[in-house]
Amino acid sequence: QPLVEVSAVSKTYTIKADGTKPRGVLKALNNVSFTMDKPERIALIGPSGSGKSTLLRSIGGLLIDDASSGDIKVMGQAIQSKGRLAPNVRQARMNLGMIAQQFNLVGRLSLFTNAALGHLGKMGGLRGFFGLWSKAEKMAVMRALDHVGVAAKANQRANTLSGGQQQRGAIARAIVQDAKVILADEPVASLDPVTARKVMELLVKVNTEDKVGVIVTLHQVDYAKRYCDRILALKDGVIVYDGPANGLSGDT
Ligand code: ADP
Ligand code: ADP
Repeated sequence: QPLVEVSAVSKTYTIKADGTKPRGVLKALNNVSFTMDKPERIALIGPSGSGKSTLLRSIGGLLIDDASSGDIKVMGQAIQSKGRLAPNVRQARMNLGMIAQQFNLVGRLSLFTNAALGHLGKMGGLRGFFGLWSKAEKMAVMRALDHVGVAAKANQRANTLSGGQQQRGAIARAIVQDAKVILADEPVASLDPVTARKVMELLVKVNTEDKVGVIVTLHQVDYAKRYCDRILALKDGVIVYDGPANGLSGDT
């Protein structure tokens, strides 16, 4: 079964981010379709405003308002159905690990606890909230932190760590969660080049070793070519290229 299915998704913002109405129609996505059949690394590229982030957030079930159409499924479970957020979206979202540009860890909590939050959805409520992890759960967290190379930092508060270490923590959280697909929104945009490459290499490792699919928005085409095996290029909300990363020529 496909990991991700996006079928004829369109998205029109009827209210601008600042709450005002746009002049004319702002079609952020226009009849976008693609399927991830096996755990691939897909780079979403395109100029600013081309709809990358709107597509990623739609797959994540994070866009609930405004005019949408089309269907999105993750691991066969509906995220969006006929343009509406699916009723069981929370369940479907458990297959998705989210990584944001601005390291979305809880700053005051330890790296361990942040990674352990990946267990939350599976645990149901307060036990996880109070950090009452079982021994097996704790071991899974330490294994994940070790896997991404930050086990030594487990007890440090997230906000004392470097950006690269925090991104590793976010990837560990996705592993703990047993995510089948990682959605990463400009995960290296705030990092220096050396750290950025290491984080990209880690996404490659998680993809190849753990068979986690990766969809990552990047604004550097060379990163997309080097670290991903498939590129989806967007322009004005339309997919203008969908193919092997090494098949993209010129400057789309
Ligand atoms: P990208 O990630 O490629 O830069 P976006 O998905 O952020 O593109 O934006 C696509 C289009 O939708 C742009 O014209 C942008 O201004 C508009 N847009 C993005 N987010 C919102 C929002 N929350 N409200 C209204 N318009 C938005
Ligand atoms: P819920 O309301 O079901 O708790 P949320 O909308 O709060 O769901 O988000 C679910 C997951 O998506 C959380 O892990 C959250 O950190 C992440 N998330 C929320 N907004 C963003 C965003 N803009 N970019 C990346 N990840 C996000």
